[in-house]
Amino acid sequence: MKTIGLIGGMSWESSLEYYRLINETVALKLGGLHSAQCLMYSVDFEEIETLQHQNRWDKLTDIMVAAAARLKNGGADFVVICTNTMHKTAADIETRAGIKVLHIAEVTGHTIAQQGMKKVGLLGTKFTMEQDFYKQVLQEKFDITVVIPDEAEREFVHHVIYHELCQGMIRPDSRTRFTTIIDKLAANGAAGVVLGCTEIPLLIRQADVEIPVFDTTRLHAVAAVEYALK
Ligand code: GLU
Repeated sequence: MKTIGLIGGMSWESSLEYYRLINETVALKLGGLHSAQCLMYSVDFEEIETLQHQNRWDKLTDIMVAAAARLKNGGADFVVICTNTMHKTAADIETRAGIKVLHIAEVTGHTIAQQGMKKVGLLGTKFTMEQDFYKQVLQEKFDITVVIPDEAEREFVHHVIYHELCQGMIRPDSRTRFTTIIDKLAANGAAGVVLGCTEIPLLIRQADVEIPVFDTTRLHAVAAVEYALK
């Protein structure tokens, strides 16, 4: 079994899910008392969130590269970044820290393509929905068209992520508005929806909406175990 290096704390609410899902998946695959060999470096999210909203991606990249280097020094064989947004720094981590990053958008794109879907909706932070770093992977590597909510909806989704989900708050009224947004994406041709923020699966489950959801936290955690056992 390879040792999984997790960069967590973005937020710790979803890092907990990663830890649980990774260990549950190892137990399911190997049985008995098997559990995952892993390390987690967990950041202070207040600092990360401040730098994100100041658009200081150079500094954020330095922090992520340093975190990956610590994991590598601790014996990690590859890195799992426990957030979609911070994959903006994934390529720099690989080159500068010299360790493989198991990319969340590649894992997700692979699953969508396997299901033969050509067009999906994407929910996440504004960074993930509006910038290219994430959509590009789905579009260019997997030929998947990505649709995103309108500006007011993006603002709402972004607000809920930082002000509710990352602070452990699960509100039924926010869930209702998310399902309305997802229904609208479906009406705009999305065959499925990517829950492209690792906290969104804490709010939205498959049973809440009609179209298939792609839970990036679960897909990424399971892929990490498959890679570790390969
Ligand atoms: N965990 C979230 C994501 O998957 C958002 C928090 C962050 O900005 O890293 O994008």
